[in-house]
Amino acid sequence: MSSEIELQLELLQHYPWLPSLKKIYQDFASKDPYQFISEIFSDKESELKERIFDLFTAAFNNLENIGNYEVNESNIYFYLILKILLYLLNTDAITNRIANLYSKIMYKELLRENDHYLYQICQDLNLDIKYYQNPIQYRIRIVKDKKEISKTNYRIHYIDYLKLTSKLQDDYRKLVNNPISEGYVFILKKNLVRLLQEYVRVKILEIKNKSEKEINKLKEKILEIHEFKSLYDDILKIWELKKEELEYSIDIEFIEGKEITDIFPPCIKHILSQAKEGQNLTHTERLFLTFFLHALEYPIKEIVDIFTTLPDFDREKTTYQVTFAKNKGYSPHSCETLKSLKLCKASKYSDELCLKGYYSKKLDQNMKIKHPLFYVQFKHYKLYNQKNEKSKINRKNGN
Ligand code: SF4
Repeated sequence: MSSEIELQLELLQHYPWLPSLKKIYQDFASKDPYQFISEIFSDKESELKERIFDLFTAAFNNLENIGNYEVNESNIYFYLILKILLYLLNTDAITNRIANLYSKIMYKELLRENDHYLYQICQDLNLDIKYYQNPIQYRIRIVKDKKEISKTNYRIHYIDYLKLTSKLQDDYRKLVNNPISEGYVFILKKNLVRLLQEYVRVKILEIKNKSEKEINKLKEKILEIHEFKSLYDDILKIWELKKEELEYSIDIEFIEGKEITDIFPPCIKHILSQAKEGQNLTHTERLFLTFFLHALEYPIKEIVDIFTTLPDFDREKTTYQVTFAKNKGYSPHSCETLKSLKLCKASKYSDELCLKGYYSKKLDQNMKIKHPLFYVQFKHYKLYNQKNEKSKINRKNGN
């Protein structure tokens, strides 16, 4: 076997979403799904079943990573079975979660790659990339009388850059905000890897919006394979348990001119009112507020503006800290943590939802609010349902 093919095999066992999978592993990448699943599940099923089930469980629990990501041939089976399962499950919320988690795992793996491999991966993806063994200089800035020189080993053609960033919203990724020369954007390794992560996410999302008729036809046939059916059922079982929480997860995001602070929980309302009055906030309060607003996709400027009333406000420093938190993707604290930090204001505001919880139809029992974001989702869901009911009644009455 030539060293080039060996390298390709190694790469595919690590990154099975690469386009050359179809060429190198032609025999099973193009196999009929029923035949593929029957062969796999008569042989390697137990280890694979466990790994796949763990991935779904982690995705349903909003985890950012799974244990050790193994690099071997079974990874290719893992990836292909994952895609078949997502196709059959045909549930956007599940596909989104798996796409997010799997692409995050890939991000971590790719960050560890050496430059040679990373370049090979870009080549496999047919990206027009220039790699420089010795980093090249692309910017000099003077910060507080000190010269800051920016260097990188990579440049990517602007057309590929635009393709890979088309779904990423951050301002700092826009072409105009990045140094470019002769049609090539200078890009740091970690930013390049972030773009590859996005490629993987979008690739998994391609599974969505397929014909129901075709899906049902394949499902009927493929679920005859007993071991596969038991994995499929196990995944559906844990999904059913999680679903109720997620039913409230209508996407709530900052929309210019739309006020959503009314449905914020007391812990956040309290911090916002303190800030409005120009009172100082503790470090923890600032962090919690920032993480919370980031989770609702508030623009950086809107968040920074909230802090303008604070006695020690410094726009440059605050913008840096708020942007840093966004890039790190920190999650807001849970109710349990907020209670231990004495930041829970449920009693102070006599908030019924926080104090008494809510009734879960599915579990037939009362549930406690565990996360401030869930509070917002729940309130939003109720509001949305009330509005729907009202418009139904109006339509009925011909109003
Ligand atoms: S119960 Fe949770 S959401 Fe409600 S105020 Fe306390 S910490 Fe905030």
